[in-house]
Amino acid sequence: MKLLKNYINGAWVPALSGKTRNIINPATGEIIALATDSDQKDAQAAIAAAKESFYGQGEWRRMNAQARADILFGIADAIAAKRDEIAQLDTINNGKPLREAEGDIDDAIHCFRYYAGLITKPYGGVYDVNDGFGPMHSYTVQEPVGVCGQITPWNYPFLMAVWKLAPALAAGNSIVFKPASITPLSTVALFEIFADSPLPRGCVNLVLGSGATVGQELAQNKDVDIITFTGSTEVGQSIAHAAVGNLKKVGLELGGKSPNIIFADADFEGAIEWAMIGIFLNQGEVCAAGSRIIIEESLKDKFIKRLVERAQAITIGNGLQNPDMGPLVSKEHMEKVLQYIATGQEEGATLVCGGNRYTKGNCAKGYFVEPTIFTDCTSQMTIVKEEIFGPVVTVQTFQTEEEAIALANDTIYGLAGAVFTTDGARALRVVKEIRAGITWINCYNPTFNEAPWGGYKMSGYGRDLGVQGLEEYQQTKQINIALNPGPIGWYQN
Ligand code: NAP
Ligand code: MG
Repeated sequence: MKLLKNYINGAWVPALSGKTRNIINPATGEIIALATDSDQKDAQAAIAAAKESFYGQGEWRRMNAQARADILFGIADAIAAKRDEIAQLDTINNGKPLREAEGDIDDAIHCFRYYAGLITKPYGGVYDVNDGFGPMHSYTVQEPVGVCGQITPWNYPFLMAVWKLAPALAAGNSIVFKPASITPLSTVALFEIFADSPLPRGCVNLVLGSGATVGQELAQNKDVDIITFTGSTEVGQSIAHAAVGNLKKVGLELGGKSPNIIFADADFEGAIEWAMIGIFLNQGEVCAAGSRIIIEESLKDKFIKRLVERAQAITIGNGLQNPDMGPLVSKEHMEKVLQYIATGQEEGATLVCGGNRYTKGNCAKGYFVEPTIFTDCTSQMTIVKEEIFGPVVTVQTFQTEEEAIALANDTIYGLAGAVFTTDGARALRVVKEIRAGITWINCYNPTFNEAPWGGYKMSGYGRDLGVQGLEEYQQTKQINIALNPGPIGWYQN
């Protein structure tokens, strides 16, 4: 079986310890690859390569923007040429339906093109400053931050990698990247494309291994200038602590428990379909999932009846066969989700749909969970408070707009939220009150390379995507020029 290796300083290398990890297809439980299992020493070697690339050789950071853009456009084209193959890798490793994986790869291709285009656009500023020290000209330039550590989760293996790698590379940084340890397949495919590209040696490095070893090293190592992370709030907190040592920049895209508010005047079938996309897309393993439906009391019965009917019709199976939902990512994660479902029942929520592991047909050996709906939920319940990260949605009701907003904001998280209503003024009022970084009106989930993505509150800080996603990987330098090179007569003797 092929061994997936680290890519450090332009070479494919196994972990120094020689340890390996089995990579599993969650639809079948079968081992599909072996990955090298790195530790701190491998991470340190990759950091040293990135440091030499940035501070030593410096080719990538000194390259002009157009030359960097040309290379990134080439990478986008190379991904496009392997689009179907890479989508299959995400499906067999993560479990997601193939059509969703294909959409991820298409988004990733455009993400590279977006940042390749953006980096050649005007940036920086020119300032009209006072002449207290004689006439001056002041301007700013955006420079790369330096050595970047990047850590991603398993729910969108390829896309999350590209959201971080494309802007960091565009800005001219040197990078050490660590994917989730259970889903390395498509990331290795991306680095094979990097290896075949004209990227200078050492400017992009891959280390496969666990968060506790490789991830922790990236967060604490003093030669790393910025750490950007997508994952759980708990790990985000530990990264922020570790990063204090050298005050490295930190960007955190964390978990969520996002409200989906539905008023009685909403377009009914539209709200149903978007609510399903909100919670069942990608098996509910979506940081921004609309996992708390908050519905106007008068629409509740009709809405739940229809939602259950539609959820029960969801097809479940191996992602390669393009069902509506594939398996959860791992046995461990499936067990965690099933445990939450049990807790929901114990705490008195009413289970009206699903709730079980799904084992029909060829699903017996995979980690499938039925689409699950709980009603009669209160804000005190564990399933309403904690992120489940699976196909499980809770339903709460409200009578007034104020109540809806209060329920929506009754969470430690602030990643996303949505409102469904045909009253335009109300839609704008409510969305303004939702304390979250991403909001939708009459839709749920659409995400764009052009628009910044990230959270409020304990969903983190910093932004991926858009212009802000590039600025995360840049720092601003001010340059002041005295227009008269001679003495200014400041001292009196
Ligand atoms: P996780 O456990 O936080 O892991 C994410 C990444 O961090 C993995 O690569 C993991 O490595 C690594 N890691 C674990 N412990 C670490 C440590 N002590 N120091 C440094 N790195 C460490 O999250 P997950 O279970 O993979 O993913 C689910 C979470 O991600 C959810 O909370 C979800 O909301 C969040 N998420 C957020 C967004 C967003 O944009 N806001 C997007 C997607 C997912 P291992 O693989 O070895 O554990
Ligand atoms: Mg984890």
